[in-house]
Amino acid sequence: MRNVIILGSGCAGNTAAVYTARAGLKPLVVVGHEPGGQLSITTEVENFPGFPDGVQGPDLVENMKKQAERFDAEYMWGTVEEADLAASAREGRPFRVNIHGEWLETRTLIIATGASARWLGLPNEHKLIGHGVSSCATCDGAFYREKKIMVVGGGDSAMEEANFLTRFGSEVTLVHRREQFRASKIMLDRARSNPKIKFLLNTVVEDIYDVGQGHVTGVKLRDASSGSNGRVWDQEVDGFFLAIGHIPNTKPFVGQIDLDPDGYIVSHGGARTNIPGVFHAGDVQDRVYRQAVTAAGMGCMAALEAERFLEAAGH
Ligand code: NAP
Repeated sequence: MRNVIILGSGCAGNTAAVYTARAGLKPLVVVGHEPGGQLSITTEVENFPGFPDGVQGPDLVENMKKQAERFDAEYMWGTVEEADLAASAREGRPFRVNIHGEWLETRTLIIATGASARWLGLPNEHKLIGHGVSSCATCDGAFYREKKIMVVGGGDSAMEEANFLTRFGSEVTLVHRREQFRASKIMLDRARSNPKIKFLLNTVVEDIYDVGQGHVTGVKLRDASSGSNGRVWDQEVDGFFLAIGHIPNTKPFVGQIDLDPDGYIVSHGGARTNIPGVFHAGDVQDRVYRQAVTAAGMGCMAALEAERFLEAAGH
C-alpha cells in the first residue's frame, strides 16, 4: 500500500514527486505514455524561471526527476489503464490503479496525466517537432523573430496564437480547413483586424518540408473547397504551429471522477477533484494556461494537499 501514487511524469507529476518525496511519503510515479510530458518533445525553454540562458525541455524534466529521486521518489514505467476510485472512496478502501494488468493500491492519488496536443498526423510532422513544428506558441514563438510563421486551426487557440505570433514573425498565415470558425467572434475579429495575419481558408496541409535539412522550410497546401482534386501548391514557412486542440488524458477515469464535456478534470478548488484524496495537477485539468511553470505550481499544490489529507487521516 502506497501513501501517494502520481500518474504522469511531466512538470506537474515531477513537482508533486519532489514535494511528496521530500515530505517522506515515498511516492511512486507512473511515468505514462510520454515520459517527461510535453517538455520532453520540445527543445529550448526560455520562460521557465531560474534559467537566464534557457534550458532544454528534456534536461529540465530529467533534472526534476533526479531531484525527486534524491528524496527517494520511485519511478516506474507504465501507463494507467483502469482506475477504481469512486467505489473505493464510498467504501473507505484504498484507491486502486491498474498499471499494465497489475493493480496497485494507494491512500492518495495525484493525476498528472496531461493533455496531448492534437496533431495533423502527417508523416513528417513528428520528425520536425522542435525543429520548426510546434504545438505551443508561448513556448516557441520567440524563436521565429522576423521569420515566416504558419498557424493551423480555426478555434480560439489558433486566433490567440496567431495574434501572439505577430509579435515575432515577419508574417503569420492562418490556415483553416473550412470557412466557418469555431473561434469566438471577439477572438476572430481581433485576428482579422491584425494586418500581419493573412487567412488561408478552405485549405489543408498535405506535407511539411524538409526532414532532409533537419528543419521546417515550407509546406505543401491544398485547396479543399473543390474536394480532393483542389489546387496544390508549396509555401515557404519557418515556424509551423498547430492549434487544433488538445485531448486530456483522462480515459481511465471516465465514470470515476467529475470530468467536463471535453474530458478535462473538473477542479473542486485548489488541486482537489470531487473525490477526497484524489488530486489533479497540470494540463489534465488546465485548459487555459498550459505552461510548464503553472503545471509545476499545481503539482506542488496537489502534493501539499495529499500530505494534509494523509495527516488528517492519521497516516
Ligand atoms: P477547438 O475549439 O476545438 O478548435 C480546434 C480547431 O482545430 C477547429 O477549428 C478545428 O476545425 C481544427 N481542427 C481540428 N482537427 C483538425 C485537423 N485534423 N486538421 C485541421 N484542422 C483541425 O480547440 P481550441 O481552439 O484549442 O479551443 C479549445 C477550448 O479552449 C475552446 O473552448 C476555446 O474557446 C478555449 N480557448 C479559449 C481561449 C480564450 O478565450 N482566450 C483561448 C484558447 C482556447 P473545425 O472547426 O473544422 O472542426
